Amino acid sequence: MTITHNLGFPRIGVKRELKFALESYWKDEISIDTLSSIGSSLRKRNWKKQSSLDFVPVGDFSFYDHMLDMTFTLGNLPDRLCPWQGNRLDNYFRFARGRSSQSVQNAFNCVGVVPGEMTKWFDTNYHYIVPEFNLNTVFELEISRLIEELLEVKELGLNPKPVIIGPMTYLALGKSKDSFDKRILLSKLLPIYLELLERLAVEGVEWVQIDEPILVTELDAEWKNDFYIAYDFLKNSGVKVLLATYFGRLLENQYLAAKLPVAGLHVDAVCGFTDIQSLIELLPSYKVLSLGVINGRNIWKTDLNFILDWLEPLAQRLGERLWIAPSCSLLHVPVDLNSEANIDIEVRSCLAFALQKIEEIRLLSLALKKGRLFVKKELDDNKSILDARRLSKSVNNAVIGRAIAGIDDTLGRRQSSYKVRSIKQASFLKLPMYPTTTIGSFPQTPEIRYARSQYKSQILDDVSYKEAIRKEIKYTISEQEKLGLDVLVHGEAERNDMVEYFGEMLEGYVLTQFGWVQSYGSRCVKPPILFGDIFRSKVMTVDWITYAQSLTEKPMKGMLTGPVTMLNWSFVRDDQPRSVSCKQLALALREEVLALEKAGIRIIQIDEAALREGLPLRQSEWKEYLDWAVESFRITANGVKDETQIHTHMCYSEFNDIISAISDLDADVITIETSRSNMELLDVFESYSYPNEIGLGVYDIHSPNIPSKDDIVLLIKKALQRIPQERLWINPDCGLKTRQWKEVIPALTNMVSAAKELRMDTR
Ligand code: GLN
Ligand code: ZN
Repeated sequence: MTITHNLGFPRIGVKRELKFALESYWKDEISIDTLSSIGSSLRKRNWKKQSSLDFVPVGDFSFYDHMLDMTFTLGNLPDRLCPWQGNRLDNYFRFARGRSSQSVQNAFNCVGVVPGEMTKWFDTNYHYIVPEFNLNTVFELEISRLIEELLEVKELGLNPKPVIIGPMTYLALGKSKDSFDKRILLSKLLPIYLELLERLAVEGVEWVQIDEPILVTELDAEWKNDFYIAYDFLKNSGVKVLLATYFGRLLENQYLAAKLPVAGLHVDAVCGFTDIQSLIELLPSYKVLSLGVINGRNIWKTDLNFILDWLEPLAQRLGERLWIAPSCSLLHVPVDLNSEANIDIEVRSCLAFALQKIEEIRLLSLALKKGRLFVKKELDDNKSILDARRLSKSVNNAVIGRAIAGIDDTLGRRQSSYKVRSIKQASFLKLPMYPTTTIGSFPQTPEIRYARSQYKSQILDDVSYKEAIRKEIKYTISEQEKLGLDVLVHGEAERNDMVEYFGEMLEGYVLTQFGWVQSYGSRCVKPPILFGDIFRSKVMTVDWITYAQSLTEKPMKGMLTGPVTMLNWSFVRDDQPRSVSCKQLALALREEVLALEKAGIRIIQIDEAALREGLPLRQSEWKEYLDWAVESFRITANGVKDETQIHTHMCYSEFNDIISAISDLDADVITIETSRSNMELLDVFESYSYPNEIGLGVYDIHSPNIPSKDDIVLLIKKALQRIPQERLWINPDCGLKTRQWKEVIPALTNMVSAAKELRMDTR
């Protein structure tokens, strides 16, 4: 009899209840007790919804981040958080975001601490708080959160399976400022893990899920060896360990994963479907094999009949040793499709959010236990929906198919080399030395948000909405003129989000109303869904940008989101490779670029904020990704005349290892975020000479601090040691939409004065 379970459930709530509760607590609108009880009722609600499973996850709920929860469970608190102030949760928020609620800050008379660094959880858009280590780090078990939650779940009469992050992944993802091999901390860490497991055993826990997703990445020999040491140390704790891996194939780590002394192994059978036979041969016969057969990263209905075809013989062979589950925690998908009233019925029938995925697990297990006939109707419905999707006219468009097949090298190639282009561009644009510009967005004021929401709910008609946005554009242009910037932008007032906006405009995308997914803490994103072949049926940016250009003599920079970023921040299709979707996006966006050029716009910026985060987890697979990602960008960008200047922008300065791919984009100008790392990015230019123009972000827009002119001059002088002055631009390091005008004006004033001062120097 196959056992069913889940690795984790979205914690934010169908209507983002947790987000609103957290933000209310931080603003002192609710008490800590109210916040805690909202958390507890969300957990109960989530467990009840999973009650069809043999095991429900416990400890997957989090008030901010599950990695940070693990840090607290292990008592790994940096010195700056000690002594504790407020209760445990207050201290937790201080680590997470630098401060807790205002009244707690006041009560303990503290101004806040440096928050923990935040970074992406593997190749997802979820961000965790990075554990901090130093040579003196000590650990101490703090198990109260888990024990509390175990009690709650027992009251519901469900079977708990606590979920924790494993010691190897915890170590691998943590950071140390001192330079030492983190593995030496293992001898201090393992006794705490053992104590934790023993305590859970005392509580009557049978199985504990220990997540070790680093097993799907490249590991060197020492780390592999430490895996054996770690799990050997933990093997007699009294609980059974289900070692969970996800987000990719085990490949060369398959042997290691199969042989570790644990009671069970969970693998991502969506990515690693083809590896299962060989894994079973390796797996000792006492071990449970848990197969993640439902995609926990995507929102598509599973082909249940197909899964059963290969699962049935395995169930026969493995009996109770076979478990089934989603591939990974359902944290990465929205909660409930039933909250969506506006999605087209055809599309909707093809989707499954977290609750629907739990239902799929239940159906699979019924089919395995009682035979397919027992769930015949559900299986037949599933089949007819998937057949319809395969044949659907809104999914497949022969014209797009032909366009993709017709892509050749010429499409992504500029007419002339950068050298030739740059001369033509310079004589046309007549920009001064060190041209100044911004990254695109200006502050999204309450008025803009209000106008947009009135328009969405049809209170504001087309004409009045257009009027409101135009007014905003006009204001933005006049402010930029006053500031004396050289290349202006329209300010992106019409965009709620740089991906969602284009998702709404392009054909082939579907938007949800409540498809929220946690990005970090209380912040959620609503990725649009790539449903069918993508094409462009109308202009998307031209009207706003030409209006902006009509207001000024200065060159206007047209602004759009690039194909790779559109892809990486959307839910992708599971019926075609990502590379194909990316090229479809590239062709559609290319039309917009050409339309902008035709409308007289001579500078066009194509944002690729998320280029880096699409990199595969294994370095050996990077090249393949970068090849099609770069090609897609080039298809979008490179159809323009020599005189048209193409810019691109990227966030996060970690480009040193992919710099040659970045220069293959062949953009005329690239702007990169690097001010926070004090121009660390420049190191790469020591050995690599970037051939085109470059704007290094000279101040950090994520902070409300105003940079001084002298700070900026210093940073630019630093940059000048590596980048020739005729190829250097000056700009902030990202868009300004999250800032207020009262911060933006003085910051940009100083930036423009810095440029002027440098121009004087070079005369
Ligand atoms: N053009 C976008 C903006 O200015 C870029 C945002 C980003 O890089 N994340 O908002
Ligand atoms: Zn950016």
